[in-house]
Amino acid sequence: TVSVCWLRRDLRLSDSPALCAAVDGADDVLVLFVLDDALRRPAGPVRLAFLYRCLRELDDRLGGRLCVRRGDPVDVVPEVARAVDARRVHISADYGPYGRRRDGEVEQALRAGGRELVRTGSPYAVAPGRLATAGGTPFRVFTPFYRAWKEHGWRRPVAEPVGARWALLASDGIPADPDLGGTRLPAAGERAARERLAEFLAGSLTGYAERRDVPGQDTTSRLSPYLKYGCIHPRTVLAELDRATSPRDAEKFRSELAWREFYAEVLAANPASARADLTGALADMAYDPPEGGFEAWKWGRTGFPIVDAGMRQLLAEGWVPNRVRMIEASFVCKDLHVHWTHGARWFLDHLVDGDLASNHHGWQWTAGTGTDAAPYFRVFNPVSQGHRYDPDGTYVRRWIPQLRDVPAAKVHEPWTLPGGPPAGYPAPVVDHATERRESLARYEAARRRG
Ligand code: FAD
Repeated sequence: TVSVCWLRRDLRLSDSPALCAAVDGADDVLVLFVLDDALRRPAGPVRLAFLYRCLRELDDRLGGRLCVRRGDPVDVVPEVARAVDARRVHISADYGPYGRRRDGEVEQALRAGGRELVRTGSPYAVAPGRLATAGGTPFRVFTPFYRAWKEHGWRRPVAEPVGARWALLASDGIPADPDLGGTRLPAAGERAARERLAEFLAGSLTGYAERRDVPGQDTTSRLSPYLKYGCIHPRTVLAELDRATSPRDAEKFRSELAWREFYAEVLAANPASARADLTGALADMAYDPPEGGFEAWKWGRTGFPIVDAGMRQLLAEGWVPNRVRMIEASFVCKDLHVHWTHGARWFLDHLVDGDLASNHHGWQWTAGTGTDAAPYFRVFNPVSQGHRYDPDGTYVRRWIPQLRDVPAAKVHEPWTLPGGPPAGYPAPVVDHATERRESLARYEAARRRG
């Protein structure tokens, strides 16, 4: 017998319950990936290139037997199952709004041909929908979610299936990388993910709790693109973390992994928050259209060094540290008064780890329309954030060459230098103090109207 294992966000061979289920009870397994145009268009070249590289690595590990097909999964998956005469198609469950609908349609199409779609596992340690508040409703607040998540626990990682035979079927092939416009990507695939994890655990996990917010030190794991495409499963990471010698740092890191799971849970329970505000708290808020200031933000030319450094890093690496992502979101929402969806879209187009749940809810947390209970008075000041988290200016100097010789005391506010900002670096596009007042006034007005 032959079974099909249809991979989506699980581009790995180890710790893959769906792959193990496909291997169990079948003589041969056809490993399938579908290039779905509905997902390719919104992904952006950086994420597509990373995806293609992950697929190439996987294909190598399968001895060139990864079957890549182009088209709508609702047609392609049943067609492939028919071609190899497989009764079962195995997947790891998807909880995003698009994925869930697509899987339901594929399931129906398979059933019409007397075949079955089997879901085993998910991209999360605890699958969305498993946890609920005491009142039986889905969580919307992180801290109680985190408690319940840890109490629930997760299964042990499963080993890579040994002795599996990979079936062969004609493949459309993996496309060439799109033009990256100079963005440098991390090494792709399962092996690179394992190496990154090992390096992180042996090195910068110690001190992570304190240093994760200091962008100049570059101490976070950078596992996000691998988690996004499932080159590594969070369960594998959590199991390795149990062996860490620094419990405080391990606990902090565990809680960051839980944020990813929390946002997946929030999105699964509220699919509309992929497009619109999660809460109605700011339904009557007045926003400005994304114009000149927003254009300047996109290209790292706002005149605020920490904001510009982050946007330049985004264009150069497709990745930005969490603290700087929050500063970016605050700038768009509270200094430019632009609705979060515009900034979130730009991020998704350029991030190598771009993920609907983490991205859109990260933006909404800052905008004040999401899961944070006290968002109104939190307006990040880009100058004090800079001084606090990048005190000697290492981070901004790395990305903005014009600031290299500016003393640390002025590096986050170069417009206060006697001659103004250094040549080639812009003056601020807004006055932060004015826009902060404006933001608070708009919040107050929206709350009164609401
Ligand atoms: P580490 O600090 O090493 O953390 C380990 C892992 O925990 C990360 O890889 C990630 O999977 C998870 N994690 C850490 N912080 C968060 C968080 N705040 N929310 C959710 N998961 C978290 N993360 C994405 O994976 N994709 C996105 O598209 C994305 N967009 C974001 C947009 C905004 C506005 C904000 C504020 C955050 C966003 N994040 C996103 C979360 C976070 O910034 C990144 O996961 C993190 O910076 C990735 O770097 P790392 O792997 O070195 O993180």
